[in-house]
Amino acid sequence: MMKLIIFGPPSAGKGTQAQRLSKKYGIPQVATGDLLREAVAKKTPLGVKIKSYLDTGKLGPDDLIVQLIRDRVSKPDCKNGYLLDGFPRTMDQARELDKMSQVDLVLNIVVDHEALVERAVGRRICPKCAAVYHVKFNPPKKQGVCDKDNAQLVQREDDKEETVRRRLKVYSEQTAPLVEHFKKKGNLVDIDGSKGIDGVFDQMVRAIDKLHK
Ligand code: AMP
Repeated sequence: MMKLIIFGPPSAGKGTQAQRLSKKYGIPQVATGDLLREAVAKKTPLGVKIKSYLDTGKLGPDDLIVQLIRDRVSKPDCKNGYLLDGFPRTMDQARELDKMSQVDLVLNIVVDHEALVERAVGRRICPKCAAVYHVKFNPPKKQGVCDKDNAQLVQREDDKEETVRRRLKVYSEQTAPLVEHFKKKGNLVDIDGSKGIDGVFDQMVRAIDKLHK
């Protein structure tokens, strides 16, 4: 049983690392952003309510987000643990999570915000399988096309520069203060997010493997 949080500003590489960790440790990645985008695409009642938040980079209402996570982590595939990606993002969400379960480790990606703007603006995703690429740092084999299923890659609306800057501001104001909360609980480890995809992954694996020693 292992419950992890991957924490850090938007575009810090949480999704990329979460996908890898999920594979390595056999626990599902629970990504609020992905769940929300899926709800928007399917036009579910939640999706209809949440679309404008996603498009503008504002945080969605805590009650909706908490309910979404509660439903997701109660599914059978989460019985051996999970990896939270993009949750919690506010103090209220963190308090609700504390009531829900005990998290083993918070992997806090620390990285310069200007570097993140460059990363986000070049990020491309596969609309079919959710694979993540970057035009400069992690390009697909064939430009603009997913390696796995040949689908045309797209830029997320919330990766546009103006939106990224707004999201970083939201992060600094509403989410970054959670670091203190996790520190008090004693299960936070800082990860140097400037080290490239493999370098960041190695730091995370080391921190996780220490849990079992
Ligand atoms: P992400 O893909 O994790 O960067 O999330 C994309 C967008 O979904 C955010 O900019 C928010 O609008 C919304 N979102 C994701 N996670 C949360 C959360 N925990 N609380 C509120 N809004 C969220």
